[in-house]
Amino acid sequence: MNQHLTARQLTDIANEFGTPVYVYHAEKIAEQYQKLKSAFRESDTVFFYACKALTNVNILKYLRSLGACLDCSSINEVKIGLLAGFSPQKILYTSNGIAFDEIEEARNAGVHINIDSLSNLEKFGKKYGHGYPVGIRLRPNILAGGNLKISTGHDKSKFGIPVEQLDKVLTLVEKYDLFIRDLHIHTGSDIKDVDIFVKGIEVLFDIIPHFKELEFIDLGGGFKVPYKSGDAETDIPLLAKKVKEAFANHPNPNGRPLQIWFEPGKFLVSECGYFITQVNVMKETPGLTFAGVNSGFNHLIRPMFYDAYHQIENISNLNGAENIYTVVGNICETDTFASGRKIREIREGDFLVFYNAGAYGFEMSSNFNSRLKPAEVMVKDGKASLIRRREVFDDLLRNQVMSDQ
Ligand SMILES: *Cc1c(COP(=O)(O)O)cnc(C)c1O
Repeated sequence: MNQHLTARQLTDIANEFGTPVYVYHAEKIAEQYQKLKSAFRESDTVFFYACKALTNVNILKYLRSLGACLDCSSINEVKIGLLAGFSPQKILYTSNGIAFDEIEEARNAGVHINIDSLSNLEKFGKKYGHGYPVGIRLRPNILAGGNLKISTGHDKSKFGIPVEQLDKVLTLVEKYDLFIRDLHIHTGSDIKDVDIFVKGIEVLFDIIPHFKELEFIDLGGGFKVPYKSGDAETDIPLLAKKVKEAFANHPNPNGRPLQIWFEPGKFLVSECGYFITQVNVMKETPGLTFAGVNSGFNHLIRPMFYDAYHQIENISNLNGAENIYTVVGNICETDTFASGRKIREIREGDFLVFYNAGAYGFEMSSNFNSRLKPAEVMVKDGKASLIRRREVFDDLLRNQVMSDQ
């Protein structure tokens, strides 16, 4: 099973809803979720969708219908999750560097909270003592992930409380009688090597005995997905096997079996997404042939920001001859989507589709150059529905205060 939308379906959507447009295929999300569920069926494991990858409330509702829980990176994501119908017990707020009043708001909403600084842990202890269970985000000092920008667990990363400060954590736990319910690590994104996760668990096994009330171990997200043919996906069945073995070899000294949590973002929603653009201008230059599309890094920043590779297909000329193109955007800043890319002959007006556009696509879009954000469409049971209207000119001015000069 490998769910995907066809060129015909994508063309129909482009014609019906206009371009640029983000399209999400629900059944692909279900396929990815089932891969995780079935691989981990023998362990007590819960998956919290890290929704910063894609927060459209319809996507959240769909993941809820599949049985997923939700991991949030801001109080607003928590609120969208509640709106999408997740019960507070199914929402986790993994904070980083936030003001304490957001933690209070999360506490009042009744969601799980992971705290990532000694400072906030102390404030939490002062205010709530043993009265509200809380998790601690630790920094395991492991280098992992596709590149440094998306690596979060190494020894110079801002994320989490460094494991070498465990004694300080324990002092606070004792001083305020904190109820520590989970330990969390998230080492990065695009992690192919399952042993990185095992390494993280090994770090935790030394720490677990210090926390008598632990119920969960949260291993974060970061599973890799293929972006081009030949790319590997994190071997989820192998990961499940290794995680199960590791926990079997290290029973919780406090007697209680520990539930395992994961926070996959990209893994669940990257491949479900297609970004359809239309070619505005072809420009032949002595060196390169440029295809200029009606978008830019204001809509899809990953190629410029992370050097990310997105496969591009010309769905308007499926049998054309292949040529080499540089695909660029229309904003006044270098915004190269792809260089030296083999694509079937591109003509003005053709639709170019960017694959793997579900995660960190629309979500990282902006209004740079006073351009409008694209529409979002969801395809479920073969039917395409609009789940976010394309912005209109008035949206650009909505919050501007007009002076009368
Ligand atoms: C971003 C993030 C994730 C998800 O990362 P992916 O690479 O999208 O799986 C999970 N947990 C935390 C704490 C995050 O910040």
